[in-house]
Amino acid sequence: MKNVIIFSIFGLVFLFSCNKEDNNQNVNQLTESEKQGLLFTRQEEKLAYDVYRYAYEKYGSNIFNNISNSELTHQNTIDGLLDKYNLENPVKNMAQGQFENDDLQLLYLQLIQKVDLSLTDAFEAGATIEDLDINDLMVLTTETNITDLISVYEMLTCGSRNHIRGFTGQLSNLGKTYQPQFLEQTLFDAILKGNHESCSK
Ligand code: MN
Ligand code: MN
Repeated sequence: MKNVIIFSIFGLVFLFSCNKEDNNQNVNQLTESEKQGLLFTRQEEKLAYDVYRYAYEKYGSNIFNNISNSELTHQNTIDGLLDKYNLENPVKNMAQGQFENDDLQLLYLQLIQKVDLSLTDAFEAGATIEDLDINDLMVLTTETNITDLISVYEMLTCGSRNHIRGFTGQLSNLGKTYQPQFLEQTLFDAILKGNHESCSK
């Protein structure tokens, strides 16, 4: 009986130390939803970049060139996290306008159709992309405790706030008002009231 108790105590200590070690290793690992969030965001940033390049090639309006450069930085920043967490880039070597995610593929085609209509529609497509991005990024930020994911998502959201101010500013010059489709009106209004932000990490 005494031996059994001693064995049990050793067993418990052994189990406890194993769990502790697993927990330490998990500090650097992501949950499935954190992984999916990063893979989705990588493609969402490509969608923004690809649509703005398309619009720039069509209309030559500088805002699309400037903001697409920012989207390139955003894609590279996510690539850094994919490397760090050993995740495969889901759109590696994919051409402009091609996506692994079916929803984003469909959205790209819808946005390109809108861009084709007019420069005003192209600005509206830009505002819609940023409206969606801010909304998605804010959700992902609340769903993780990993600090480097949070800081990247916050940096991307900051960039998107500048971008949506840019596109709605262009629309306002044309006498148009953008109605948010994803963000709540009060948050959208607060973002538009804000000044241009410096978003580097
Ligand atoms: Mn972006
Ligand atoms: Mn953007």
